[in-house]
Amino acid sequence: MTNPYLTNFPQIVLKSTLLKKIFCSLLLLCYVSAAIYAQIPALERVEPMFWWVGMKNPKLQLLVHGKNIAERYVSLNYPGVKLVRINKVENPNYLFIDLEVAANTKPGSFSIKFTRPGAKPFIYTYELKTRDRSFTRINGVTSKDLIYLIMPDRFANGDKSNDVIKGMRETSLNRDSMYYRHGGDLQGLIDHLDYLKDLGVTAIWMTPEIENDMASASYHGYAVTDHYKIDPRYGNNELYKKYVELCHSKGLKVIKDIVHNHTGTEHWFIKDMPMINWVHQWDKFTQTTYKDQTVMDPYGSAVDKKRMLNGWFVSSMPDLNQSNPFVQNYLNQNHIWWIEYAGIDGLRLDTYPYNEPAYMADWAKKLKAEFPRLSIFGETLVNGVVNQAYFTQGSTLNKNLDTNLPGITDVAVKDAIYEALNGKFDWTSGVNRLYSVLANDFIYQDPYRNVIFMDNHDMSRYYSMIGEDYGKYKSGLALLLTTRGIPQVYYGTELLMKNFSNPDGLVREDFKGGWEEDKQNKFRADGRNEKENEAFNYFRKLANYRKNTTALQTGKLMQYVPENGVYVFFRYNTAKTVMVLCNSNDKEITVETDRFSERTKGFSAAKNVLTDEWINRISNFKIPAKSTLVLELQK
Ligand code: CA
Repeated sequence: MTNPYLTNFPQIVLKSTLLKKIFCSLLLLCYVSAAIYAQIPALERVEPMFWWVGMKNPKLQLLVHGKNIAERYVSLNYPGVKLVRINKVENPNYLFIDLEVAANTKPGSFSIKFTRPGAKPFIYTYELKTRDRSFTRINGVTSKDLIYLIMPDRFANGDKSNDVIKGMRETSLNRDSMYYRHGGDLQGLIDHLDYLKDLGVTAIWMTPEIENDMASASYHGYAVTDHYKIDPRYGNNELYKKYVELCHSKGLKVIKDIVHNHTGTEHWFIKDMPMINWVHQWDKFTQTTYKDQTVMDPYGSAVDKKRMLNGWFVSSMPDLNQSNPFVQNYLNQNHIWWIEYAGIDGLRLDTYPYNEPAYMADWAKKLKAEFPRLSIFGETLVNGVVNQAYFTQGSTLNKNLDTNLPGITDVAVKDAIYEALNGKFDWTSGVNRLYSVLANDFIYQDPYRNVIFMDNHDMSRYYSMIGEDYGKYKSGLALLLTTRGIPQVYYGTELLMKNFSNPDGLVREDFKGGWEEDKQNKFRADGRNEKENEAFNYFRKLANYRKNTTALQTGKLMQYVPENGVYVFFRYNTAKTVMVLCNSNDKEITVETDRFSERTKGFSAAKNVLTDEWINRISNFKIPAKSTLVLELQK
């Protein structure tokens, strides 16, 4: 897998052996300066800032951060809330307070007092809110959906006033550089929700929108510096909540991209760590091997597995220690907090195979307990069906653990569609690859929960990967939007945006028209050229057909052995039967349909759903060179 995060930050090494001897040395040896240490206010933060009554799990662990806060005595008094334990850790600037909130506790606020003889007490007013079930939130993202992935910095700038935020480490905006912030934000996305709805998209996945206050190249969002705060360059927490509500009001679902594995080095809790083993420690900087095989290989060594799981993703992203129960609670509660706060429908889990497996399995169980309809899929950019299936819920391949991970990013199907489009037809290649990969679906508990895609923010764009061949473009999109799974497209696919991911900034270009000063506005038909409009209209037609056709969403799949470079499959339910014919040849092919009678029986005509052409027979179909027909069979 390519490393999406490589940047030019100086390498930072945590010297664990020394740190373990004297905790205070940490502050000197690490990148935490004495000046920053001194700047921590007496009561800097309490996280989660507020919580809810009626959660399935009555336990709540508050992280309290403030200068020498551990010297303080903690007290509270609220009916239903039990103070179970005060945890002091290595760093006196932290307290972890274990609470239990009884099921019948009334929503309301109470004071948490931090006292010390002879000193002024600090008081934090803690609020327990009512869980919001008032509108149809948390629908889950399923195979009924079409996911559209955007990078918020690169989609649309709806608020120029937040382009550069005073006090943040990255001090300028530069749209001419792929490494700088470009000014896109939540308001920009909100302004274009109708564009996405019209396009036929039903779910939006944004790369992480929480604060990434890094010194440079922070726009990608995977170097988190504050888990509870929307990056001010995108908006604020209230605007994010409003964005989710607006999406729901338009029938769109929202996916949040979350990172368990690492944070940015500028994260406030990395700069003043609660304890040495908050992150994985190495004697010298040690990077992960990016080799997922090490976690499942029967011949693998312990040292390789450890390096895969505990090695840092890159030097600017410390590897969180998910075996540490305080880290576990922190992450779990943060994710629950965002879902309950904003009503998110699905989570995409970044760098899934790099996380501690037992922790991730437990995490998924806890999240599903609070939000049964929540959808979850893990980024598993691994090689092959077996390797990715290993990570899925209920897999018999993983004998040690049920991961409880409902869905994964289906690289095997992606590669197989590319092979169907670009490869030469043979026993195992060309469209035979796609047929074979799908024939392996018996390996999954539910393959319909896999997210299928052709590209994303870390990969070369689809249009470039098929040699900018418009015929293949249409053919591949037809396969993606008609086969099983949850299709995901990357912003700009509908406009034939292209480029190879080297460096990755090239596949993260701005959506033209998202900025007031843009000369072209590709959100509008009159801003697109003829070819772009053709692609847009094709995409829109197909996406909207899928949106209104349950057979393509949840219907059964039946596929036939490819012959003469032609791959045929059906999606069907009691309402409709859709026949898909993919011709991978350079010439037109006529396909006789006798051998498909198991599925064509009872039908006498067909409608081409992309051209609306009516075909008055089903005995044979002519498929143009390098194209895919999508036909709705008619009685
Ligand atoms: Ca902006």
